[in-house]
Amino acid sequence: MLSPIYKLSKEWIPNCNLFIKREDLIPFSFGGNKARKAKYFFEEIIKENITSVVTYGSSSSNHCRVISNLCVKNGIKCYIVTPNQQKKTYNTMLCSISEANYVYSEISKVSITIDDTINSLNKMGENVYFIPGGGHGNLGTEAYVECYNEIISFENENDIEFDKIVLASGTGTTQAGLICGAYINNDDLSRIIGISIARKKDYATNVIKDSVVSYLNKDFHNNINLIDKYIGEGYGYFNEDMITLLKEVYKYEGIPLDLTYTGKAFYGMQDIYKENKKNENILFIHTGGTPLFFDSLEEIK
Ligand SMILES: *Cc1c(COP(=O)(O)O)cnc(C)c1O
Repeated sequence: MLSPIYKLSKEWIPNCNLFIKREDLIPFSFGGNKARKAKYFFEEIIKENITSVVTYGSSSSNHCRVISNLCVKNGIKCYIVTPNQQKKTYNTMLCSISEANYVYSEISKVSITIDDTINSLNKMGENVYFIPGGGHGNLGTEAYVECYNEIISFENENDIEFDKIVLASGTGTTQAGLICGAYINNDDLSRIIGISIARKKDYATNVIKDSVVSYLNKDFHNNINLIDKYIGEGYGYFNEDMITLLKEVYKYEGIPLDLTYTGKAFYGMQDIYKENKKNENILFIHTGGTPLFFDSLEEIK
């Protein structure tokens, strides 16, 4: 097990046993779902004797923090293509410690900038590997099939079944992996519930579906549970209630959430099930982002 599962102490959802899987405690580079995905990318990167990694992400990117850290650890150069308006965050500071090179780009020119960066590194004789933003792709999906298998092991060992598995959904790769895991194990797919942090339902579910089809390599027509009710104005948007909840979860559980991903998803989960009458076992996947917890504290003070 790469990360622990346990029951929370307070009744955050009426009548329910709420469990948490602490992906934020994956033991390297401050963990999170980007760390679990990166493990798979680096297995390939190390096998292929890569000398330079190119990836993409904004200043709040947990992905870039993890990738740059694993690059420097393995003696590989790291190039991060990033939008022009770069905010200073704990993640960008950690990228700097990890000696990442930033390549700035206008948002509309990102894919050209990525191609140019890869081409010029190739010309310099580098062996280049590109990691899609957020660790999107079959390797990222595979990482969350493994996570799903860990959840099943926990269920079997503890003689429990989760009625719902709730998580923050961004690019949807994490959710796609969990869906593939459920599919492969003949489990009920509808128990996997993504709370979208920015994307509208139609677009987001299409991307998830594409990831599932690409990984399973077969048609997929099942319904995907994705709730886009909490996106507000989109990526990075949060409200006062989310701030209150972030403080409470830290006070009563000692768990850091953030206002971009996990805090938004936890808030959405609580809101959706606040009138729940059934006695259910719910698992919340804490997808990580500890440095964003500290950025969140600075925003709310
Ligand atoms: C990236 C991220 C997500 C979203 O993961 P996707 O696989 O892109 O859907 C959720 N939570 C945190 C903390 C993240 O960093």
